[in-house]
Amino acid sequence: MKLPEVFSLQMQHILGEEYQAFVKSLLEPTPVTIRLNNRKKTSEPIATNGDVLWHTNAHYLDERPVFTLDPAFHAGAYYVQEASSMFVAEAIKQTVDTSKSLRVMDLCAAPGGKSTLLASLLNDKSLLVANEVIKSRVGVLKENLEKWGFPNYIVSNHDPEEMIDLEGFFDVVLTDAPCSGEGLFRKDPNAMNEWSENSVQLCCARQKRILQASAMLVAPGGILCYSTCTYNEKENESNAQWLTQVADFEHVQLKIPAGWGIVEKKYGYQFFPHKVRGEGFYLSIFKKTRGEKQEARGKIKLNRLPQKKVEVLKEWLQTPDVFDYYEKPDGQIVAIPSILSNEYAVIFRVLHKRSSGLEIGQFKGNDFIPSHDLALSTAIAKDLPAVELVKEDALKFLKRENLGADLSNQSKGWLLARYQGLNLGFMKVIGDRINNYLPKEWRIRMEIPE
Ligand code: SAM
Repeated sequence: MKLPEVFSLQMQHILGEEYQAFVKSLLEPTPVTIRLNNRKKTSEPIATNGDVLWHTNAHYLDERPVFTLDPAFHAGAYYVQEASSMFVAEAIKQTVDTSKSLRVMDLCAAPGGKSTLLASLLNDKSLLVANEVIKSRVGVLKENLEKWGFPNYIVSNHDPEEMIDLEGFFDVVLTDAPCSGEGLFRKDPNAMNEWSENSVQLCCARQKRILQASAMLVAPGGILCYSTCTYNEKENESNAQWLTQVADFEHVQLKIPAGWGIVEKKYGYQFFPHKVRGEGFYLSIFKKTRGEKQEARGKIKLNRLPQKKVEVLKEWLQTPDVFDYYEKPDGQIVAIPSILSNEYAVIFRVLHKRSSGLEIGQFKGNDFIPSHDLALSTAIAKDLPAVELVKEDALKFLKRENLGADLSNQSKGWLLARYQGLNLGFMKVIGDRINNYLPKEWRIRMEIPE
């Protein structure tokens, strides 16, 4: 691997004697890791090859399988995520009381790896806003959060600088900033081709802008977590130091076992591939020392669903009474946790380009048509009619093809397709015909080998 010369010099300066070990590690294969969904358990164990030291629910795999061909992947049983970046969860666990009701913002969120990581840390009284400024990346973010199943999420599409009216609103803000990507050279050769001293300068300036906007969003006593997947001082330690100079934040020190191989810097924590089983990563965590907390007050400007229709919905949800139900102008019904209605109202008022939370379906006349979001949500009732599919049929369902299984003895109506106990989506049995309600844009496009 031919590293850019300026980058090599920079790494020699950072690593000294360890530089050769670092270069050697770049020739080794990238570890493949998955993080299991704590709210969705498969009935079959997944074969793994060692645990990620800093995350209890994440494991290495021997090799990279074709994840598209595993129905459990489509059901949100796990997320394929680079190991070092999972450290965000440990940093939050050490600095935030996650048993409380929290308002959490993931500011640079697509494709959603860290949003799903955060969702797994939160309880059902907490709200996650996952924001992505680039419109074309919002779809994949929404899809990944839908699959993960945590019901209390909103996806938004704003520039952080447009969020001034959310000043002091969030208990936790994660800023996983766009960066020069030095830590990804092994995993993604493109990252190396795009690297230049100039791109480091540009990233550094952009990160400062994003950090300033992030800082404003945090409530006093709240936490700002800043991360990059790069090594240079400018984007990491210098930016972290700069934040403590320009805003009311103090750096928080974490407790890290020496055996984890993470390098502690003055302001943050650096991951190097020759010291950890993962890629290059940097994280720094800060607490806001002053400011005013923005109380959540407001009214959701959507029509409340009439009680008659709410009664129809009840059988579809595990704990229907924890939600309020609203109808959007397009007829979609959204389920909003009653305990968070003020928070949702504030977000709806300030962020105009956003989803409306968990859309559970819509009424056609008196019939309720459940959504795919509901099928994958952990809020769905457990006792709805369902059929367990073998792998071959589960893949056919996900390709929207006819199933091999004989479903002629199933009662007419809605039927959940399941694989290893996990919901894949809805079907509707109409006499001897079965309609597949998997959204077309979600279907598997690749050929399935015999
Ligand atoms: N957190 C994501 C995850 O774990 O899956 C990865 C985020 S990636 C490192 C950085 C994200 O920041 C990208 O999705 C990129 O589109 C977004 N971004 C780019 N420019 C931005 C800006 N000016 N403000 C905020 N986000 C930006």
